Amino acid sequence: MNRWEPILQRLWREHTRPSQVTHVERLASSPGVREDWPDWTAPAVVERLVETGVPAPWSHQVRSANLAYGGENVIIATGTASGKSVAFLLPCAHAVAEGGTVLYLSPTKALAADQRRSLAELALPGMRAAAYDGDTVPEERAWVRAHANYVLTNPDMLHRGILTRHAAWSGFLRRLRYVVVDEAHHYRGVFGSHVAQILRRLRRVCARYRSEPVFILASATSAAPAETAERLVGLPVAAVAEDASPRAALDFALVEPELTGSKGENGAPVRRTATAEAADLLAALAGEGVRTLAFVRSRQGAELVAMSAQRALADAGKRDLAHRIAAYRGGYLAAERRELEGALRSGELLGLASTNALELGVDVTGLDAVLLTGWPGTRASLWQQAGRAGRGGQDALAVFIARDDPLDTYLAHHPEAIFGRPVEATVLDPDNPYVLGPHLCAAAAELSLTPEDLTVFGPAAEEVLADLVARRMLRRRPRGWFWTRRDRAPDLADIRGSGGPPVQIVEDGSGLLLGTIDEAAAHSTVHTGAVYLHQGLTYVVDELDLEAGVALVRGENPDHSTWAREVTEIEIRRTLREEAWGGATVSFGEVRVAREVVAYLKRDLRTGSVLGEQPLDLPERVLHSRAVWWTVGRDAEERLRAEGVEPRGAAHAAEHAAIGLLPLFATCDRWDIGGVSTALHPDTGLLTVFVYDGHEGGAGFAERGYAAARAWLRATREAIATCECPDGCPSCIQSPKCGNGNDPLSKPGALRLLDALLAPS
Ligand SMILES: [Zn+2]
Ligand SMILES: [Zn+2]
Repeated sequence: MNRWEPILQRLWREHTRPSQVTHVERLASSPGVREDWPDWTAPAVVERLVETGVPAPWSHQVRSANLAYGGENVIIATGTASGKSVAFLLPCAHAVAEGGTVLYLSPTKALAADQRRSLAELALPGMRAAAYDGDTVPEERAWVRAHANYVLTNPDMLHRGILTRHAAWSGFLRRLRYVVVDEAHHYRGVFGSHVAQILRRLRRVCARYRSEPVFILASATSAAPAETAERLVGLPVAAVAEDASPRAALDFALVEPELTGSKGENGAPVRRTATAEAADLLAALAGEGVRTLAFVRSRQGAELVAMSAQRALADAGKRDLAHRIAAYRGGYLAAERRELEGALRSGELLGLASTNALELGVDVTGLDAVLLTGWPGTRASLWQQAGRAGRGGQDALAVFIARDDPLDTYLAHHPEAIFGRPVEATVLDPDNPYVLGPHLCAAAAELSLTPEDLTVFGPAAEEVLADLVARRMLRRRPRGWFWTRRDRAPDLADIRGSGGPPVQIVEDGSGLLLGTIDEAAAHSTVHTGAVYLHQGLTYVVDELDLEAGVALVRGENPDHSTWAREVTEIEIRRTLREEAWGGATVSFGEVRVAREVVAYLKRDLRTGSVLGEQPLDLPERVLHSRAVWWTVGRDAEERLRAEGVEPRGAAHAAEHAAIGLLPLFATCDRWDIGGVSTALHPDTGLLTVFVYDGHEGGAGFAERGYAAARAWLRATREAIATCECPDGCPSCIQSPKCGNGNDPLSKPGALRLLDALLAPS
């Protein structure tokens, strides 16, 4: 028996129905494997590391450091707190001591600032580390370019500020020995594809200055790390994935909240919300003196969890404990973050509810338990969050609380999908022409492109270049391709968005610009009446003015959330791949998608029940993207009809659940993809279900869905079958973003349809 047994038993008895605990996985502890410092490490570096609390390296640190030192590109894909920074620091410190330079990239400024601070604390002789990002003032920039030998920046700055002015950086680039790509798993989907092209541009510019830096990537554990890293960098990369750092024993429980008496859309039953469940568990654990962190999707949700837990403790007569629970929001200043970290470490704070903001940039140790409210998106994030638990080698606890969607339902009933499998691969598609085009322009503006350069940018480059010339973006001359336009080429690539003129999000009254969002996403996220989350704060949109490109918002904390509803039409432009499955066919190809946001739904934050629907009047948007689709042949459809299956409701229900499950196979967000289903599609003449990438040109998600189609559809069937509702609910076949009001939907029909699809021929 471990130390959680009695607490867990009481928890499940008093706070949760035992039947809701669907699984408890016990993960054993491991002591860790230490090795000697590599013999090429300077004694001064070893001395400083020992002084700052690293007595000796773990074997994965030594292996990756040796590979990078030997000139091989390497990705270190190991768990949270496994010391990846030390692994890349060793070769980098060596290079700097020899007169070389290092470029360090992180997805956020906050993380780069943390890294810079630890480098400053380490104070290695001869290392001049400096940040170069949007916050660096002009006077300092010149100093950094001329004197720093370890520059910390982000892909945005590399794209807009460094590559474009490479001549000013020539001294630094000429001596560039290592490029560190930290938190590499963040570079996925369209953003990851952009970063992949930025790194190719960097390699080409370096070649001009006769340097050939070695890439060192640090990533959360991921499947096929070498392949992903090669896609990102465009070069062969060795992987170090065996984590030799010590691990505390962990009990990991899965909980599915119960169905309540409340009624949702079309009379469907509603589950108790995952946030209500999390608040109960947080109060119960903190009440036992267990230091607990609850991860919640939104800031509102995090505050709700903290408040409810405080109230529960106060009601139970534990007022002193209620004060030791807090909510954490993103966007804290460094000093505030340090204070919070300290309070958690000392035990002054017993419970904290936070958004994922904590995942990056806050160093929290000293926790006993972690609650995960809803699937964090990937197994990699799940382990990263759960990895926060475990104080001083003591047993740790993690609890996953399922939300009411098909993916969470599936996972709550299929622990083997969480525990029995490696984490997922990171999906990106650098060859996407909509991504590649702007970077070829930017590259040509940096240094004219030669035919030899094409190998750097991949097999799609030639066709995309021909198109750019035809569109008069680039000029073809005997020596290569040239950028001769006056505008700034990097402006063409919107690396964190997905094209289209951006909509500005402005606070009403103060006129403060909160941020921008690309137009395609604006329709569904900042439409009039939308509840909009920005850096953990909640706003309500007063008006979306598309002509002016402005969404006026006001800070408010409504007790409802909003979900945009969209109707979609889809046209097949080109079938790229196809596979026959008995009476069915699964295909992948290019599509044209016309989407229109027609209304939004309001749902109560506390109970999850539907409060009403508001119509919206927004124009149609057209997207050229990629999709996976499947059709059922006429004979099979006749058989289904004969069994009493209503094809439209069956296809529609299967579509919703399939969209919900794809993130398990394609590392995407439910919002990155969309779907259409019809009993008779004009292009196929058959019952057809489509799932498409919601980004111009595609992002690789539908392609993954095609590759994993059998496993994906089997999981979809399972998720529908295991939900105990009678006729469908948000946990299985209802979708909050359905443009057709979740009608018609048939749960038994969807099961039969998926059976027919998956039947061996
Ligand atoms: Zn259900
Ligand atoms: Zn629908």
